[in-house]
Amino acid sequence: MITTRFAPSPTGRLHLGHAYSAALGHERARELGGRSLLRIEDLDQTRCRPGFVDGIVEDLDWLGIDWDAPTIVQSQRTGAYDEALQSLMARGLVYACFCTRADIAQSLSAPHGDAPSAYPGTCRLLPQDPQRRASTPHCWRLDSAKALHLAGLPSWTEADGARFTAAPHEIGDAILARKDAPASYHLACVVDDAASDVTLVVRGADLRSSTPTQRLLQSLLGLAEPSYLHHALITHAGGRRLAKRDLAPTLAAMREAGVNGRALARSLLAGELPLGFAWSEA
Ligand SMILES: [Zn+2]
Repeated sequence: MITTRFAPSPTGRLHLGHAYSAALGHERARELGGRSLLRIEDLDQTRCRPGFVDGIVEDLDWLGIDWDAPTIVQSQRTGAYDEALQSLMARGLVYACFCTRADIAQSLSAPHGDAPSAYPGTCRLLPQDPQRRASTPHCWRLDSAKALHLAGLPSWTEADGARFTAAPHEIGDAILARKDAPASYHLACVVDDAASDVTLVVRGADLRSSTPTQRLLQSLLGLAEPSYLHHALITHAGGRRLAKRDLAPTLAAMREAGVNGRALARSLLAGELPLGFAWSEA
């Protein structure tokens, strides 16, 4: 059975891009008699606000999107993430990294931006020192060289059947957990997708760069492989990305302005956008 999920972070109100993503996953599940799930990704406690969860639920209801299981809330599932992290640690696939953001920026001669391989691996060869870990802030990183040696280059299938294999530079020593966050986006995402039997991951093309790392983690953890639908993004007409801090295009504002949510969801699925917006492939 097909199972899709919509997995927003409660860091602000939803906008048109979220509406499209949620509607697309919901439609795919409904077309094939499958399940559609809602997951709240609230592990980043510095940015998430409980009040936004209610807003998300309201917005989705307005769009006519319903769910087939109770909402999954990541902050209530930290035990499962820790278990996954421990199993990777037990196989020597994880190391403690003490670098600050500034350290990492300084050590890079070229501007790699947010490329997955941007971390230069400074701490990979440090002796693992429990005393230093007890006294110094650190995160846990995947030893990607070891992981790739064990699992090989990951590949994945898009919903249209196309098969992709990751290039080595698309995989870096991803952060798996921090002292203040029990799991990174990557780790929590694969653990939760597997726990709820998600078979089709529907998300924006901007998250395509996460797929190689997540497929690698799925292999290492022995989790089932979903397929992926990386959909086009919605931008402002000039190409500028929709951001949660933009006030104008939130779904809440559209609702207040009298827009019909179900009709909006239908037109987005038909590829039609309100004036002032455009589709973008990346
Ligand atoms: Zn480091």
